Amino acid sequence: MGKLFGFLQYERQLPEDRDPLERLNDWNEIHELLPLEKQKEQAGRCMSCAVPFCHSGMVIKGVPTGCPLHNLIPEWNDLLYKEQWNLAKERLLRTNSFPEFTGRVCPALCEGACTCGIHQPQITVRQNELSIIEHAFENGFMEPRRPAVSTGKKIAIVGSGPAGLACAEILNRLGHSVTVFERSDRVGGLLMYGIPNMKLEKRIVDRRVELMKKEGVTFRTSCHVGVNQSADELIKDFDAVVLCCGSGKPRSLNVPGSEGRGVAYALSYLTASTRHVLDGKADLPEELNAKDKHVIIVGGGDTGTDCVGTALRQGCKSVHQLEIMPKPPVSRTAQNPWPEYPKILKIDYAQQEAIAKYGSDPRQYQLQTREIQRDEKGNVCAVITDRIQWIRGEDGRMSPKVLEGTTKKWQADLVLIAMGFTGPEDTLIQSYGLTQDGRSNVAAENYQTVCKGVFTAGDMHSGQSLVVRAINEGQQAAMACHEYLVQE
Ligand SMILES: Cc1cc2nc3c(=O)[nH]c(=O)nc-3n(C[C@H](O)[C@H](O)[C@H](O)COP(=O)(O)OP(=O)(O)OC[C@H]3O[C@@H](n4cnc5c(N)ncnc54)[C@H](O)[C@@H]3O)c2cc1C
Ligand code: SF4
Repeated sequence: MGKLFGFLQYERQLPEDRDPLERLNDWNEIHELLPLEKQKEQAGRCMSCAVPFCHSGMVIKGVPTGCPLHNLIPEWNDLLYKEQWNLAKERLLRTNSFPEFTGRVCPALCEGACTCGIHQPQITVRQNELSIIEHAFENGFMEPRRPAVSTGKKIAIVGSGPAGLACAEILNRLGHSVTVFERSDRVGGLLMYGIPNMKLEKRIVDRRVELMKKEGVTFRTSCHVGVNQSADELIKDFDAVVLCCGSGKPRSLNVPGSEGRGVAYALSYLTASTRHVLDGKADLPEELNAKDKHVIIVGGGDTGTDCVGTALRQGCKSVHQLEIMPKPPVSRTAQNPWPEYPKILKIDYAQQEAIAKYGSDPRQYQLQTREIQRDEKGNVCAVITDRIQWIRGEDGRMSPKVLEGTTKKWQADLVLIAMGFTGPEDTLIQSYGLTQDGRSNVAAENYQTVCKGVFTAGDMHSGQSLVVRAINEGQQAAMACHEYLVQE
């Protein structure tokens, strides 16, 4: 184990984030790393408990807890404490294909299940993970590993998000020839165009893609399978196809006024913003620019939060985030005990920034959007909401009841819909005659769809989720595909 009684000696410590007001002036990452000596102390807090829950990857009451990748957390904490950096990196990469992504954006399902967290602040698992992998990149330990053998089998992976990348990495290591098709101009899926630069700098995604290229993976961008690249050809030209196309259909807000200019889906908005940050040339399209506008974001989740941070950096006049659910408690309730993932109020980076700029949290709870109003020129001018109460019905299900006399008008020039996604797009489902499950995800048995030799993974298969779960899906699908190929 790390340091005997380290958890009693050292307090949990995370690096200071950059100052909220200062960081609004740029798009750089908000997080820093701790000095190595301090990070070592944090790893020394790990108790190496007899039955660690942090790496369990369980689902309790429908909610995942513990690391879905089953990262060997106590083992690499120990190696980090002993400053055996290279061994720690090897241990980490045994289970996690891309710790540099999860170390930045994972909600750390592990930390909610940390045994130390029962009576003390949890171990800084995510931060320890990040420091191991960044140390490895900075010190030249991340050399390309080309496969020792070639099987002669060719695999097409469609979609270059975390699922597609994880799948490509493993199949390439197993000696197959892997080509990743991506319809976008850049590789990375939502890691590139979705999660904003201040949470995950795009040079980090490019760094990994360059490494994978050196290891032998081929990437073909601006290749939209089923549109400018024939889906049938993939079946003919490759021995197997793995679809990792994400869950691209946004949930719409069906209220009067929600169609047309001034209302945009969060992902279109975030994509345009990142493209602008990266290309830096042309102006942002006016309808996707929050500068000097009153911005209303419908949806209080993480995507809505990324819209808050983006709107603030673009120079909005005001920003509010409307959430239909009640405000979460500040600490665990009796109904949400350890080791469940704690469903508690988070003040995320963008809320901290809004508080620093305007003096209050931009989130407003238990609000249902009734209408989006437009002026005589058709421009969005207000959002009308009602306050609701959640009532438990006789069947035990909760449903919203509008509270009379609570109607409110919010000034708005730009409305962003961040209400999640309803499932994968139809193009390839139709091209390959795939079936869908009750939640409209692509149905598969051990990642194999009803179309022979066609596999699926990630959000397309499991529904809108997390980077860590998409990596896990990509890894599992790679193994299923490999078994299929060796039996062929
Ligand atoms: C705004 C936003 C912020 C998020 N923030 C976080 C976070 O902080 N932490 C976290 O853990 N999770 C976060 N998530 C969720 C996470 O990003 C996703 O769960 C994850 O990226 C899913 O990975 P994937 O590989 O399945 O799909 P995606 O990342 O969606 O990638 C799918 C790729 O397939 C491509 N594609 C689709 N169809 C085709 C086709 N026909 N031909 C070629 N290419 C195609 C798409 O262009 C895309 O690049 C966020 C999601 C959003 C929307
Ligand atoms: S990937 Fe996420 S859940 Fe797993 S150890 Fe890292 S931070 Fe924790």
